[in-house]
Amino acid sequence: MTVSKIKEINDLHNDELLAEPTELVESARCLEKYIERHGEQNLSFYALRGLAILTIERIEQGRPTTKFTAQNILAAAEISTPEGKAAGTLLSQAWNKLIDNILPKRKKGIQDFARNLGLNCYPWPVKDKSDGGLPSKYYLIDRPLPESDIQTIEPVVGDQIAYIRELTPELAWWAKPLIRNGYRLEGWRRWLFLTYGVGFILLCGILIMFSLGLLWSEPTWSLRGLSSSIIFTGLFAYASWMLLRPFFRLLEWRITMAPTALIALSEFNVQMEIVRDSQFNVSPGTIRLVRYASTCPQCKAKIEVEEGGKEFANRLVGRCRENPGEHIYSFDRFTCKGRTLR
Ligand SMILES: [Zn+2]
Repeated sequence: MTVSKIKEINDLHNDELLAEPTELVESARCLEKYIERHGEQNLSFYALRGLAILTIERIEQGRPTTKFTAQNILAAAEISTPEGKAAGTLLSQAWNKLIDNILPKRKKGIQDFARNLGLNCYPWPVKDKSDGGLPSKYYLIDRPLPESDIQTIEPVVGDQIAYIRELTPELAWWAKPLIRNGYRLEGWRRWLFLTYGVGFILLCGILIMFSLGLLWSEPTWSLRGLSSSIIFTGLFAYASWMLLRPFFRLLEWRITMAPTALIALSEFNVQMEIVRDSQFNVSPGTIRLVRYASTCPQCKAKIEVEEGGKEFANRLVGRCRENPGEHIYSFDRFTCKGRTLR
């Protein structure tokens, strides 16, 4: 299919979707709320929020067009353009970052968020490039929500909260070729995964035996030699445990906090889980990295999923950022729901 043909279909699709302002205003409100709860403090998110606000305003005023220029958006986002820089250039840079880096990681989260609000569509920003001297136009479209791959999509009841898959985290450079679209536990990948665990245990055993052997062969026991051996063995055992723990927890719980070595330095609070293809499928599943999050119903701050610690041992819990000691919620990744624990 030629580029012009694809563009023609896209344009048709966009116009068709723009034809329902009542649905578009719901989507725009959904986007504004999503950014308020899950957005970041950067120009790309400010601009996207500006676009959502403008769209809501225009539709509420009953005006026909919901396409905006860079100047409109920057004004709505309350961003002043530095001297000597055109509004179009400033927004274009933020927009490219949004389309290339941010939205691919956020797509699932926006879909989950829209689904939890009971919508059939989710909002998506689009840009019409400048044409024949006319400035570029930015606008929101409605995209139909795909079928949910979360097991139950029942609405929240009582004191329940709903989690979304806020982010598909960026991987560490070395893990990218291995886990780009999830790590499917099949074939050689399955064996590599098991070899990591079993091989590591064997390696630890051999090293411990080796160091014991060295210690034994010492003609005399000196306090210095003994204490440095104990410190070395202790550090080694701790490092090994830290590397092996996610492996065993993943096998046992099917979800655990992701090891820092697997994810990019900019990412935090990331979970690693094994997902089956479907509820009744016996396939071994796929390991994927994800960041679950929700909103605290008490103080409207973000809830992040963390280890439960001593109090909630052997489980992951949702902890409110504003009141981490008091606002704690359970976390069920099967239903993506939680309840107040404290
Ligand atoms: Zn809270």
